[in-house]
Amino acid sequence: MDPVTLATLGGIAYANHRINAAVIKRFTYSRTAVATGTDNTPDTPEDLQRLLWLASMEPKILAAVRTVHPGAFTSNVYRSDLLNIVLRQHGYATAKHSRHLYGLGLDVAWKGISAGPTLDAGLRAVRDAIAGIGAELRDAIAEHDNPHLHFDFFDPLRLIDKRTRATRWKQKRADKSWHTLNW
Ligand SMILES: [Zn+2]
Repeated sequence: MDPVTLATLGGIAYANHRINAAVIKRFTYSRTAVATGTDNTPDTPEDLQRLLWLASMEPKILAAVRTVHPGAFTSNVYRSDLLNIVLRQHGYATAKHSRHLYGLGLDVAWKGISAGPTLDAGLRAVRDAIAGIGAELRDAIAEHDNPHLHFDFFDPLRLIDKRTRATRWKQKRADKSWHTLNW
């Protein structure tokens, strides 16, 4: 490879590294982690990979949410196993196997967000908007205490989820035809 190409590739790799580092810093930020000195660096290389995948989807996710809630932004993303325990000690009702622990959960909020009917009302429209972006949405929840919208996704690495929504549907159809054959 000629030196110019090599230098260009080196420059691109360095730029990507800088961008990734900034994303991970933002996605692992937690007020409680900072306040308590809790380590919130990704627990596994897979968590890190999923966070980078999520970062690649984030602009589309936010654009989808903003069709209903203008000004929506990402509020929280990653939680290390340790931070999940610390959050529970601080009174947050965190799920033991939350997708945030795997780098597959993303919370969204906006200025002036409040608990109540508007939070639920927009959820269906947001869900529909996200359906078209190419990330497989697993769940969308309106959280009323500490108001935000929670989204989580099927694992693009196929480690947590062996099957996705699409393959489940295929399986369902296969099951159905099997039943038809056998009455
Ligand atoms: Zn969440």
